[in-house]
Amino acid sequence: MVLLKFHGGCQQIGMSCVEVESQRGKILLDCGLSPDTGEIPKVDDKNIDAVIISHAHLDHCGALPFYKFKKIYCTHPTADLMFITWRDTLNLKKAFGEEDIQNAMSSVECLNYYEERSINDNIKFKFYNAGHILGSASIYLEVDGKKILYTGDINENVSRTLLSADTDFDEIDVLIVESTYGSPLDVKPARKTLERQLIDEIAETIENGGKVIIPVFAIGRAQEILLILNNYMRSGNLTEVPIYTDGSLIHATAVYMSYTNWLNPKIKNMVENGINPFGEIKKADDNLVFNKDPCIIVSTSGMVQGGPILKYLKLLKDPKNKLILTGYQAEGTIGRELEEGAEEIQPFKNKIPINGKVVKIEFSAHGDYNSLVRYIKKIPKPEKAIVMHGERYQALSFAMTIWKTLKIPTFVPVKGTVLPI
Ligand SMILES: [Zn+2]
Ligand SMILES: [Zn+2]
Repeated sequence: MVLLKFHGGCQQIGMSCVEVESQRGKILLDCGLSPDTGEIPKVDDKNIDAVIISHAHLDHCGALPFYKFKKIYCTHPTADLMFITWRDTLNLKKAFGEEDIQNAMSSVECLNYYEERSINDNIKFKFYNAGHILGSASIYLEVDGKKILYTGDINENVSRTLLSADTDFDEIDVLIVESTYGSPLDVKPARKTLERQLIDEIAETIENGGKVIIPVFAIGRAQEILLILNNYMRSGNLTEVPIYTDGSLIHATAVYMSYTNWLNPKIKNMVENGINPFGEIKKADDNLVFNKDPCIIVSTSGMVQGGPILKYLKLLKDPKNKLILTGYQAEGTIGRELEEGAEEIQPFKNKIPINGKVVKIEFSAHGDYNSLVRYIKKIPKPEKAIVMHGERYQALSFAMTIWKTLKIPTFVPVKGTVLPI
């Protein structure tokens, strides 16, 4: 019998971790950290044969440096991006040291998409494109003959950076699926509409001689935003002003440029035709940013909680300037305060009055509800489904949708659930 043990990512977004246990061995699918609490899954690293990582976001790989695993499998770009994620965490929380990062990195073995790897006679797996961020993978594994698809974070739409998530799998016995936007209320505007809104907001500010501050997540969101800005400027649909960047998105963008083969083929074509799709990366410095000229500042962190973005917030004293939030803002973050219309904020010692406009245009690397529904209809019908990686309402809603759509038993585990399959 194969057992699934759920250590995290249950009715929550954060610390995704599933243990797959068979007579012959134990493996983990993801080993993430909870971004708001810093909590990590409790696992016995000495008894785990291998960890398979879906992608380089904190909630999927952030707990690895806390443990000493024998082997960590991921795709090539994921390894490079994980290094950035771990470094960011070290700088922010100091929960582990540089040696722990080195140690974790020494256990990493990289694979390409569709390359099969056996962990022992009874466990083998392959990575498939998940369409979420560079190198992101769905994990298709066979354990004692059971075929399991762990989707990881998926986007079934084509994005500027990536092709859509793969759906052409062989048989699936058990589907473990994410549910970030799992409720029928989570229907998002088309990407083109969002891009247009973003460009209109920026154009308005630039025409008034103001500056635009865009907080972003370093991996995925930052590159999508840079591609959009540069695309509209190249085509003459947005006035050319300097785009300054700051924070670990600079390193992450360099990784994107190093793996153009893994990106949307349009990007590779542009590079081969001498166009840098992300534009020239200009590091922000005070002389450039705090002068009179209009500009755009793209910086981490995405929820305005730590990172170099904090020092640019004083620009919001000036009503000409604008801040554009591009993603989900968790409770307790400065990003959420700004989203809710705070009249002043206090990132450092002094309070900053907010006179500039704050808008939110949510660009997600996840498919919305309709996209998730299309995904489960496209893949081969599983015997049972397990819903993870969503807040309780989203996870329960999506389980109901799967039941109605596919008529298969569907589970929404909580932390500590053990399911035989
Ligand atoms: Zn992710
Ligand atoms: Zn995630």
